[in-house]
Amino acid sequence: MDHYCVFGNPIAHSKSPDIHAAFAAQTGQQLTYEKRLAPLDGFAAAVHAFIAEGGKGANVTVPFKLEAYRLANALTVRAQAAGAVNTLLFDAHGITGDNTDGAGLVADITANAGVPIVGKRVLLLGAGGAARGAVLPILEHRPAALVIANRTVAAAQQLVQQFAALGGAGIVSACGFAEITGSFDIVINATSASLQADLPPVPPTVFQPGTLALDMMYGKEPTVFMRFALEHGATARDGLGMLVEQAAEAFHGWRGVRPDTAPVLANLR
Ligand code: NDP
Repeated sequence: MDHYCVFGNPIAHSKSPDIHAAFAAQTGQQLTYEKRLAPLDGFAAAVHAFIAEGGKGANVTVPFKLEAYRLANALTVRAQAAGAVNTLLFDAHGITGDNTDGAGLVADITANAGVPIVGKRVLLLGAGGAARGAVLPILEHRPAALVIANRTVAAAQQLVQQFAALGGAGIVSACGFAEITGSFDIVINATSASLQADLPPVPPTVFQPGTLALDMMYGKEPTVFMRFALEHGATARDGLGMLVEQAAEAFHGWRGVRPDTAPVLANLR
């Protein structure tokens, strides 16, 4: 029996144990997966204690993704690009850090929502950890344009600098919310504004009929951003599909088996 867990603080709300238990049952994998509350000043110690107990891997959530990045002694390309780690793998080589959030987002958009990214205009709101993790996976799908808008414009500009070479000339650009122009096929809210029931100050003209508006946040009710997008003709989606898809990507990395996410997502909803 192999052991996995998710580290966070707080962690009581986490759906990850249910998701991974469902994946394990579906694929016949023998494993346990539990929640672990890591002290705010004791993340590394909590990880090492879990390894000493025989832990094989872990997910990492708020507020430890940057610490997990620093703790890992090897990083995947996408973890390096994100500058943050949400998945750890423990083996004879030590601690490998991966980031499956962006791949989960892209899988939810393309496979679950059925919206291809290739050739589309994409607006990414926010330039924090979640936005950073999304940029490389989005660019790998060759959008026509990726505009990163953030309250602190310098943070968005820094992302553009980091990814300009990958995106190709003129594909990735940065601006403040007030400078957003035109409409988009896909609008992703990667700000944490929804946590305070706030709306990022995005102009309604970014939406057109058929726009997919995705809020990375999820909960019982549609977020303010989702309601705003719906009022302006877009289709709205929350971050639950992204959560399940990032978990599937982590599960695949650990176990070498890709679970079918559709029944797990349907069950959570
Ligand atoms: P960070 O704290 O790293 O970044 C927050 C971002 O939000 C920054 O760009 C910040 O702008 C911006 N922001 C905060 N408040 C406002 C506001 N009132 N108006 C406009 N912009 C604002 O957070 P994360 O990137 O880690 O998380 C972002 C969201 O993504 C959260 O809601 C989180 O729950 C969700 N998430 C969902 C996942 C899933 O699986 N569904 C996975 C990971 C994250 P500034 O730079 O100016 O401060």
